[in-house]
Amino acid sequence: MTHADLLDRYARLIVRSGLNIAPGQELVVTAPVEALPLVRRVTEHAYRAGATLVTTLYGDDVTTLARYQHAPDESFDKATGWLFDGMATAFKAGAARLAIIGEDPALLAGQDVDKVARANRARSKAYRPALELIAGHAINWCVVAAATAPWARSVFPDLPADAALEKLWNAIFACSRADQPDPVAAWVEHSRNLRQRTELLNAKRYAALSYRGPGTDLTIGLVDGHVWKGGESLSRNGITCNANIPTEEVFTMPHRARVDGTVSATKPLSYQGTFIDGIRVRFEAGRIVEAHADKGGDVFANMIATDEGAARLGEVALVPHSSPIARSGIVFNNTLFDENAASHIAVGQSYTDTMKNGSTLSAEALASAGANASLIHVDWMIGSGELDIDGVLANGAKEPLMRKGDWAA
Ligand code: ZN
Ligand code: ZN
Repeated sequence: MTHADLLDRYARLIVRSGLNIAPGQELVVTAPVEALPLVRRVTEHAYRAGATLVTTLYGDDVTTLARYQHAPDESFDKATGWLFDGMATAFKAGAARLAIIGEDPALLAGQDVDKVARANRARSKAYRPALELIAGHAINWCVVAAATAPWARSVFPDLPADAALEKLWNAIFACSRADQPDPVAAWVEHSRNLRQRTELLNAKRYAALSYRGPGTDLTIGLVDGHVWKGGESLSRNGITCNANIPTEEVFTMPHRARVDGTVSATKPLSYQGTFIDGIRVRFEAGRIVEAHADKGGDVFANMIATDEGAARLGEVALVPHSSPIARSGIVFNNTLFDENAASHIAVGQSYTDTMKNGSTLSAEALASAGANASLIHVDWMIGSGELDIDGVLANGAKEPLMRKGDWAA
């Protein structure tokens, strides 16, 4: 199959299985400029599926960097609130959302840490009204990737630029199942497997998960009404979508005050253009009380100081070490892929739909039930072939859940 064929199948998969766009729906897309060929294919498939208006907002690494190099200091407390308010208005009116990512994972490495933190904070605050509609699954949405030259260079630094780009595209196609004979059918089957796993876990009603591995000895309490999710999800607008392509995780809501012990990251984290490597933290009563990173420690410290909820967990996710992305052996330096190669946790905002009736509760009711609230939501990888996880039942009894990184049963 040629690259053009694969790109077209990938675009169709995104529109059909990812967004499942409904006739009469608008679509708002964000994408790096390098993703233009993919955006064109997506746009055509969206209109053919009945979309009434497709609008794409482009970003560009070089212009992002220009701000850090040349903008006046006051720039870093600004954000495009008017644009994000417009996006929120579109979502409230029923528009679907597609995010195509592919930024240089190390774009902002070497820039002023304080400026990066201020800009992120201003952006997170301005984006919040739109993010709440996305995180609360008010609409059908999807995040996918497009290979770009700087991203490919960071993943395959030893290859010539063209070969690196081609190799990254092929990895994206394979991990997304776009290279299968019938990608849409492959996703139906994959979703069924993930649903079976969430049904098993939901029936268990574990009170906590207990982790043991190199540098890790951690207990994560789950909220009482937690709901395991994975694969496709039913949005509140009645449309079933796959919010991430690829996705291999099942995930649920940790209790914001019931996390204790130490945990070590197993992969580097790329956070807003900076690499954070060798993360090791200690939790006490749900809060990070000690944090260390071999690299990017100051960025990590700023990240978890964003607000009160930024030092507490909002998500816990299980991914078998035998997932296709893990088996590829590639470290993508990108959370969409790396989080689906390993079990992970996320600090910050929790997904309200991972708690029973969570989407209908007030902020106060959510907090008292153990849900976390924050301007950020950042996943980092703690899974490996050496990690064992037990499910802890309400009476304290433990049963093997994962052994050496794979499902115990
Ligand atoms: Zn996750
Ligand atoms: Zn997450």
